[in-house]
Amino acid sequence: RRERAHTERLLPAVTRDGHAVEVAANIGASAESAEAVELGAEGVGLLRTELVFMDHAQAPDRAVQEAEYRRVLDGLGGRPLVVRTLDVGGDKPLPYWPMPAEENPFLGVRGIRLSLQRPDILETQLRALLASADGRPLRIMFPMVGGVEEWRIARDLTLSLREELPVADLQLGIMVEVPSAALLAPVLAREVDFFSIGTNDLTQYTMAIDRGHPTLSAQADGLHPSVLRLIGMTVEAAHAEGKWVGVCGELASDMLAVPLLVGLGVDELSVSARSIALVKARVRELDFAHSRALAQRALALESAGAVRDLVGETH
Ligand code: PEP
Ligand code: MG
Repeated sequence: RRERAHTERLLPAVTRDGHAVEVAANIGASAESAEAVELGAEGVGLLRTELVFMDHAQAPDRAVQEAEYRRVLDGLGGRPLVVRTLDVGGDKPLPYWPMPAEENPFLGVRGIRLSLQRPDILETQLRALLASADGRPLRIMFPMVGGVEEWRIARDLTLSLREELPVADLQLGIMVEVPSAALLAPVLAREVDFFSIGTNDLTQYTMAIDRGHPTLSAQADGLHPSVLRLIGMTVEAAHAEGKWVGVCGELASDMLAVPLLVGLGVDELSVSARSIALVKARVRELDFAHSRALAQRALALESAGAVRDLVGETH
């Protein structure tokens, strides 16, 4: 099975009844993009830019970042790149960026909240990204957005920089990983070009369980019906506005979750490069009409265990 998946890794992922799902790669460094394509990626669905910043003794300047982002795009040969702006803060500090100690770093100044406190750093990153595009498809998204205000500030800043650094094929979106953003998806969907659901944080914040908790983290299952409902609402809201939705959290490479995500209408699954062939193979086994019905049944269940039993039976 694995061998067949590998042989077919470069083919698109289309269900038996003809519904296509894009399968892209999550990467953390520029060297990985060409390798991801070789492993079947149809693009990069999440470039985590934290490494670019952690590798240096001070914030990398525009030239250093631009070279890095260019390398990622070069490796993609015209396939789309979804980049997430710097997502540090809270538990992920940067040595050259003093942050006040917080009692609850996961509920503190992290992601877009931190970027908006240091717009100079965000601006440099956005300039580097816009300059690197060179006619290639670039999608920029902001992490940990909880509502319209943060999104609008980040969008307006990007659009103003774009006047000096034009990019023909640019989309702007947000990570949906804070429950308030999922609940407000109908409003946000009018303004964004796309959503990418970060199920790692979305599950953590929905269930109020630290994703790295030594004893509780197993209970923070992305297949909990509460999380599935938020995913379903997000997709419905996006599609009503003609926008697309990806999932870039770990859930996208969970073989039991794939039929449900596809059935909820998720357009793109972004997973680690080594999972791409298997996720594509899983999609090809599915019937979209059946997956849709399965997802509706899952939404009505009472626990993650019940959802896993449901999908496990039909697997
Ligand atoms: C997520 O939260 O699901 C996600 C993809 O981002 P990260 O794991 O980097 O927080
Ligand atoms: Mg996250």
